[in-house]
Amino acid sequence: MTTGTTTVAAYAAPAAKAPLERTTIERRAVGEFDVLIDIKFAGICHSDIHQAREGWGEAIFPMVPGHEIAGVVSEVGPGVTKFAVGDRVGVGCMVDSCRECDNCKAGLEQYCTGGGMTGTYNALDKNGEPTYGGYSQKIVVDENYVVRIPDGLALDVAAPLLCAGITTYSPLKHWNAGPGKKVAIVGMGGLGHMGVKIAHALGAEVTVLSQSLRKKDDGLKLGADHYYATSDPETFTKLAGTFDLILSTVSAPLSLDAYLSLLKTDGAFVNVGAPEEPVALNLFSVIGGRKTLAGSGIGGIQETQEMLDFCAEHGFGAEIELIGATEINEAYERVLGSDVRYRFVIDTATI
Ligand SMILES: [Zn+2]
Ligand SMILES: [Zn+2]
Repeated sequence: MTTGTTTVAAYAAPAAKAPLERTTIERRAVGEFDVLIDIKFAGICHSDIHQAREGWGEAIFPMVPGHEIAGVVSEVGPGVTKFAVGDRVGVGCMVDSCRECDNCKAGLEQYCTGGGMTGTYNALDKNGEPTYGGYSQKIVVDENYVVRIPDGLALDVAAPLLCAGITTYSPLKHWNAGPGKKVAIVGMGGLGHMGVKIAHALGAEVTVLSQSLRKKDDGLKLGADHYYATSDPETFTKLAGTFDLILSTVSAPLSLDAYLSLLKTDGAFVNVGAPEEPVALNLFSVIGGRKTLAGSGIGGIQETQEMLDFCAEHGFGAEIELIGATEINEAYERVLGSDVRYRFVIDTATI
């Protein structure tokens, strides 16, 4: 068992809006219930960019982003029962929560009301130390916030499932996407492409609503049954009253009224993308047809495990572009320009 902290190579943003650069960080000593993970791959999530550039408010610097982590356990604390050295594991958006509130007890740790979940990075842990994410070579995490990556799933394509996968899986399950249901996925990016794969695997009839038809071939290949451009006003007339569920994955503000008009009676529009500014809504858009406007954030630990098992069973991970650490800043620009198919994943051996 390690007694001291471990010095680890990482990529960090030294200040808001500054380019990321190579540095070293200290990981805490492996505690009784901790596992030390050799990180192999880390996905780049759009929210890494929001946070590294302080788009979501004041942040902690230096910041090592990354909450789509896949790796292998290399050491366990004496009290660890769920994992052993050599296990293939993942860490998503949280590394702790209060464990005592109703939500934590119900497996909804992401909605912890006892002080909130502890983010994998850009947060303070129980000892008041800043957390550092996956753009690094090792991480120490309490075993209760670690999930198992099934054997059938390669680690590189599994990494993005830890955020993009669970963020779409959780609402699709909650709002009963499945056989006989018409589901629309808004946006065909990192989240959206996972939404398409998962909704299709759940048995729903899937429609992609994307700004243009640029990624139509990919969408159909990944499991969509239909694909429409939202830049074409006819899409909204043609599809009025069509969907049981619309899952919006975009972080640009949308015309909610227009999208709500695409729902059937009792349909739900669920937002998992997070625009930086408030959006306008005419409440008549939900009154007529008893519609639901909702949101959803990632998923709990147990549900994350269920999602990984589901993806492995159906034989898919994310569509990725594997990059080296020196390409991170360029990748950020490309994510902002929607120029990635469909998730950048960092090979952390290059850090
Ligand atoms: Zn994310
Ligand atoms: Zn809690």
